[in-house]
Amino acid sequence: MNGDASMRESASLSVRDIADWAPFAAPPADPMQAARARMTSTDQWAPWQTVGRRMAIGCVALEITQRCNLDCTYCYLSESSEALKDIPLEEVYRRIDLIAEHYGAGTDVQVTGGEPTLRRQDELIAILGRVAQRGLRPSLFTNGIKLTRSLLEALSRAGLVDVAFHVDLTQGRKGYPTEQSLNAIRLRYIELARGLPVAVMFNTTLFAGNIDELEMLGRFFISQHANVRMASFQLGADTGRGVDAPGSAAGQIDKAQVIRGLQRAAGVPLNFTAVSAGHQACNRYGFALIAGGVTQDLFSDTRLAWDVLAATAGARFDRRSKLRSVGTFAAAMARRPWLVLRGSVWLAGALWRLKGGLLRARGRVGKLSFFIHDFMDARALDRERCEACSFMVMTPEGPLSMCIHNAKRDAYLLQPARVARGETVRFWNPADGSWSAEPPARIAVSLTRKTARGRARGQLGKPVGKAA
Ligand code: SF4
Repeated sequence: MNGDASMRESASLSVRDIADWAPFAAPPADPMQAARARMTSTDQWAPWQTVGRRMAIGCVALEITQRCNLDCTYCYLSESSEALKDIPLEEVYRRIDLIAEHYGAGTDVQVTGGEPTLRRQDELIAILGRVAQRGLRPSLFTNGIKLTRSLLEALSRAGLVDVAFHVDLTQGRKGYPTEQSLNAIRLRYIELARGLPVAVMFNTTLFAGNIDELEMLGRFFISQHANVRMASFQLGADTGRGVDAPGSAAGQIDKAQVIRGLQRAAGVPLNFTAVSAGHQACNRYGFALIAGGVTQDLFSDTRLAWDVLAATAGARFDRRSKLRSVGTFAAAMARRPWLVLRGSVWLAGALWRLKGGLLRARGRVGKLSFFIHDFMDARALDRERCEACSFMVMTPEGPLSMCIHNAKRDAYLLQPARVARGETVRFWNPADGSWSAEPPARIAVSLTRKTARGRARGQLGKPVGKAA
């Protein structure tokens, strides 16, 4: 059961298929059961699977603005995005409620955009608070440019669980020509969050222009394991308004290449097939224990990893507190003495292999997880992967696979929001922010410099073809 399901053949979606693909409209009676059925029907139900076992979905993106203060080469936003007003708070709250109804308490919610810190600060704080109040786990996905310590403190008080900083060469930050030079920004962001009960993650888009620096990045994140919970890598995909950087092309980078680079950085063969979420062609997950610069693969015993996953499936870990997480883990394992014994034997071996580092680190051992997400090109969507998708976007009509959403964003962006205030129903026009008693007859946006690039690419029909 440790096979690599990513090599399976599955049908590509036609333009018609994409247009017809609808969001999940009605919340399921039992979200976990529904998730398990989805994984089973796509042949992804296996001991490594976390969707349907630990959680009903990997995460749900909540886009609270379409505006951004950067212009990334692999941007997934729509050609229309920059011209659109921020959706009303009532509609954001309605979508938060929908997430809770579809996937239940404990679901990870990415508060994102566009760049979410461009939203009014009081509204951003209120949105984060609302996500937390519904029992969901809010993460802020940001490029960090507008994020201040005081805002992060306020968001933390409102219930923020993680902050995920997107920093890489696709953003074209002036004065930072290499990933190595961008480490200065990464260190600044780590300082921004220091001491707050908020886990720090970094997102890096990989493409031909920075893949040579992957090993350096892996070593950097390992050196920062005390401050960083997860290093997440996305493979550049041809979708949205983004265009490839000169000299690169979508599809040049694959997961195996990324795994090899991270293994070289770690100095050990990290196992990226023991635990995963959704379709194995989409995601890979690795986990390292680190002490004094020495790394140990947490998933080196695949069967033990599966058994621990099964034993802790119902546990709800509090990422804001290491102590509480350890307590939750210990409580879940307490009723399984045989598994505790097997784990203890494994741990003794791991500590022995880490002994040199443990001496240097005076007995302190930390951890770091690696995540690889292989988004699909908009014109090469694999049906089975979309059916097993673990990363949803909350549209006005319900949750939808992020890859499908990226392929037809305007279908959801260029529609009025229907907002009920007491007995009165009004309609909001995303193009100009106006309100009316009837749905607007037409929603028209004009292209900007950013959006025109993506439009030109679409008209030219540039060939794409990253394999699933
Ligand atoms: S968003 Fe795309 S790549 Fe990610 S899990 Fe869903 S189908 Fe797979």
